[in-house]
Amino acid sequence: MHVFWHRRDVRLRDNRGLASAATDETVLPVFVLDPEIRADLGTRQWAFVLDGVRELRRAYRERGSDLLVREGDPGKVLQGVVSDYDADSVYYNEQYRPIRRERQRTLDDAVPTESVTDLVLVDPAELNERYENHSRFYDDWGTHGKPAPAPTPDEGSLADVSDDTPVPDAEADIAIPTAGYDAARKRWDTFLADGIETYSDTRDDMRAAVERPVGAVSRISPYLAAGMIGIRELWADATERYNVVDGDARRNVEKYRYELSWREQNYHLLYYNPDLPTEHYKSFPNPIAWENDPTKLAAWKRGETGYPLVDAGMCQLNTEGYLHNRPRQNVASFLTKHLLVDWREGERYFAEQLLDYDQANNAANWQWTASTGTDSVDVRIFDPVAQMDKYDDGADYVTEYVPELRDVDPAKIVDWPTLPADERATLAPDYPAPVVDRDEAYERAQRVFERALGKR
Ligand SMILES: Cc1cc2nc3c(=O)[nH]c(=O)nc-3n(C[C@H](O)[C@H](O)[C@H](O)COP(=O)(O)OP(=O)(O)OC[C@H]3O[C@@H](n4cnc5c(N)ncnc54)[C@H](O)[C@@H]3O)c2cc1C
Repeated sequence: MHVFWHRRDVRLRDNRGLASAATDETVLPVFVLDPEIRADLGTRQWAFVLDGVRELRRAYRERGSDLLVREGDPGKVLQGVVSDYDADSVYYNEQYRPIRRERQRTLDDAVPTESVTDLVLVDPAELNERYENHSRFYDDWGTHGKPAPAPTPDEGSLADVSDDTPVPDAEADIAIPTAGYDAARKRWDTFLADGIETYSDTRDDMRAAVERPVGAVSRISPYLAAGMIGIRELWADATERYNVVDGDARRNVEKYRYELSWREQNYHLLYYNPDLPTEHYKSFPNPIAWENDPTKLAAWKRGETGYPLVDAGMCQLNTEGYLHNRPRQNVASFLTKHLLVDWREGERYFAEQLLDYDQANNAANWQWTASTGTDSVDVRIFDPVAQMDKYDDGADYVTEYVPELRDVDPAKIVDWPTLPADERATLAPDYPAPVVDRDEAYERAQRVFERALGKR
């Protein structure tokens, strides 16, 4: 008998490690609640993951088996399971997060193990250690074959066990979406039916984001982050569609496949740079003169900076546990550039709030936006006024999340941070004044980063 250790892969379908374990032996599935990993996740994501574990157990029970649920240090727990059930080895899917890799090493030392590449389409170990930029990564990554979805194990290969250890409940401060493979697949089907063929055209359109939350973009990220759907399944469906459409539809579908390559690059970065979540990726000759003003950080967290696009983004994050990519970039840039708060503060806050928190994607994107990461532009600063003008000039997104501005003319909302104070007070007395001056903050950020880079 093989044990299969479920980790960030709470699904039976397209699970390469599980499929490998089931090839020639009976499989005993186990999920281990690891208190140290739990401590690193926000309550919202933890509640979502636990719902996913419950769904997984239901799927196993439907197939006449069960999911063993245990708590503790996975190395010790799984060693115990191997001995209790007289199993010969433990299979698991390779992870890239340093703490999870450490867990793997401890287990590898304790019992015979088999690790399988599942989280990504291309194993980072098969790629070069460093690429100059994303295009170079993409070109090389593109030459590697992408495996087909892994087969679902048949009922006969699952251990005839039962386990009544309850999956604990977790309280979250927001409504948690339905978890599990079926819910993920439903969301994905919605996007395939009406979304993927227009994705490139709508992915930055904030009106579309409000009108068609799943469609304008896929919003599959919470399910991918928890491993409730497999990456090969998404890739295969997107590729199948790419092969049968042409013209605009083909261009749009290709953009979706391209976006998935960013995710792959971020795991690649974390694999070769385990300190990515805590240390600057780029080296700077001089320290970055962060200001780290706690009052400004608190205003940013609450969505009360007086910059409508930033505040709407933070409000979406706080109330939904999700944040659209365009405002995600804007709130991160605003924190690290206009407010000069260290990106690690923002990275931590996102980790607490996001349902799709993923250490590789979060750290790499924070670093990219803070100009400490892989971006080829030395100092990139998003101007939230220009960004709103370009992507939300009808203020559809902003007014969805900032009710104080609902009665204000959209053109005024776009220009809000530059309006005279008395005009702002008349138009929306309850909405905060800007915490920093738009031009001063922009220029100060430019100076601070150029000094850190030794350019001044
Ligand atoms: C500061 C910052 C922090 C971020 N933190 C996370 C995080 O913790 N978890 C996370 O999954 N994504 C993170 N992202 C990336 C991106 O914002 C989300 O993946 C995306 O918004 C999820 O929504 P979606 O599924 O609708 O995306 P879609 O636009 O539908 O894209 C489909 C999928 O492509 C991948 N993808 C798209 N853009 C990116 C990107 N820039 N980087 C990596 N993968 C991408 C994701 O897997 C996404 O689910 C972050 C971005 C920024 C700027």
